[in-house]
Amino acid sequence: MKGRAKGEAQQEGKTLVILSRRSREGRARPKVRVPMARIRRLSEEVIQKIAAGEVVDRPASVLKELIENSIDAGATKIRVEIERGGISRLLVSDDGFGMTPEEMELAVERHTTSKIATEEDLRHIKTLGFRGEALAAICAVAKVRLVSRTRDSPAAHELLVAGGKILAGKPAAHPVGTTVEVTDLFFNVPARRKFLAAPAAEARRCLELLRHLALAHPELSFQVFSEGRKVLEIPAARSPLSRIAQIYGENLARRLIPVEMREPGYWLKAFFSPPELTQATRVDQHLFLNRRPVKLGNLAVPIYQAYARFLGRGQHPIFFLYLEVDPEIVDVNVHPKKEEVRFQNEEAVLDLFRRAALRALGAFTPTWTGKPIPTIPESVSTLPEASQTSISQEELISFTEAPERTWRILGQVQRAFIVVETPDGLEIVDQHVAHERVLFEKFQESTAIEVQKFLIPVQVELPFDQAAALREAIISLRKIGVELEPFGGNAFLVRGWPLALAERQAKLGFSEPLRAVASLWREGNRDLLELWREVACAAAIRAGEELSLPEQEALISAWKTTKEPARCPHGRPIAIKLTWEELRQKLGR
Ligand code: ADP
Ligand code: MG
Repeated sequence: MKGRAKGEAQQEGKTLVILSRRSREGRARPKVRVPMARIRRLSEEVIQKIAAGEVVDRPASVLKELIENSIDAGATKIRVEIERGGISRLLVSDDGFGMTPEEMELAVERHTTSKIATEEDLRHIKTLGFRGEALAAICAVAKVRLVSRTRDSPAAHELLVAGGKILAGKPAAHPVGTTVEVTDLFFNVPARRKFLAAPAAEARRCLELLRHLALAHPELSFQVFSEGRKVLEIPAARSPLSRIAQIYGENLARRLIPVEMREPGYWLKAFFSPPELTQATRVDQHLFLNRRPVKLGNLAVPIYQAYARFLGRGQHPIFFLYLEVDPEIVDVNVHPKKEEVRFQNEEAVLDLFRRAALRALGAFTPTWTGKPIPTIPESVSTLPEASQTSISQEELISFTEAPERTWRILGQVQRAFIVVETPDGLEIVDQHVAHERVLFEKFQESTAIEVQKFLIPVQVELPFDQAAALREAIISLRKIGVELEPFGGNAFLVRGWPLALAERQAKLGFSEPLRAVASLWREGNRDLLELWREVACAAAIRAGEELSLPEQEALISAWKTTKEPARCPHGRPIAIKLTWEELRQKLGR
């Protein structure tokens, strides 16, 4: 999403560069007369449009500014309407303190704000807005209807603005609060309009933003309509954790590990996933700084370090960090959209996050033995119908059918690697990626995916934006053996799962692979192989899992018969080899 917006900015920048280059080249080709570039003052209209682009680049960024204004106005209830992904229409209505007609006229001009007055005020910002440019920017590139009423005024006032110009103002009917309706976004900036994604994709971005804002402000209630359909209704929540539960479902919320740290200047409320609850993307990692969703950037590093020993490749923890700091020690004004922040003392914040994550994981660190893995019966022939193992029966059989093995397992180390002795030397195999490779090739080879149908379907609840993406993916998922049925709200029933993965996934729970698939879909990726990779990856044995010897043997045997044992489906190496030759050389024999 960001890439596109950036591409656009670059594109605009490029045009400028090309023009100035051409004028220089003009001298080298005397036949073509190119007029000298002259410095000129841009018209107010062009200036407005350029400035608007920094704040507003797509419906989701308009939505963000409008909702932040509502929050700054003390709203408790926010209603959002989105049509064609917010491109043709976007409405935000609040019950905040409203504006007088004079304030409304001022508000749509550039650099008008009620939130700061002096430079000194910049150091104590407690509101979400303060730059005084959002409404003006939106009015410059869309048609806007603004209706507002303060507590003291008997009637509301309505203002119509288009392309930066106030067209009309008149009395209107509206309860105390404000409604901003934005239609025809970028109607007068075709270059920008062109860079918008399809309405469905823009709608997904709006929903994702709403998830972030709803998480950041548990005390607010939200009602959201998209294409005339109610897609979301979240009542006010008592605490961040109950808001997380409203959005992610009780199941996830119950498993999170809460940590609270109160230190001079900092107050952190954090919720971390336990080591065995990871997912394939970072979409569910959040930092709310003084209630503002901000990019984590390298602030995530100490958290990853704390999780390091539990995470395999491509696995990411889930966490929600609510950090309150003294506004004086943070600069939120380094980014026009205020998505990035700068701390006066970043080291202190990194350290705070490190200690919080370590405390959350403390219970697991010294004695953690991974998810208990039931061991496989010694003799394969006595294997019960539905074996309780992490390796499928098929894999076990392929292992027993290969008596001419030339390798032997030396054992598992670090609960992550399996050391194998071969005639040529030693192999150190990454158990997670090796299993991923096995599961991945199973799909590539199969003409028809075998599906394990569940007698009792499993109910899974996803965040609303991910649920929306997943609903779109249902038909494609069928082709890889994932059978889902929408179950009202943001819930789904899992009715079937690829046979090769079903048993293990049923133990681990289905929400992780479904969330991974949803975010892949949201990124516009429709490739079945990619979808399968996510589903398979979630079922793969993880780093941190202790494997019995038969399990290790089954895994290595299955892995050795894959077509491409060297690399995992992401292209990373699966094993390191140390030949006897190398070993002798290194030891000087
Ligand atoms: P900023 O939020 O940075 O002050 P904006 O351009 O977003 O700048 O808004 C300009 C001003 O308009 C705000 O400072 C506020 O006084 C007023 N305003 C905007 N939206 C609302 C709203 N929903 N309710 C009350 N006042 C609002
Ligand atoms: Mg604002």
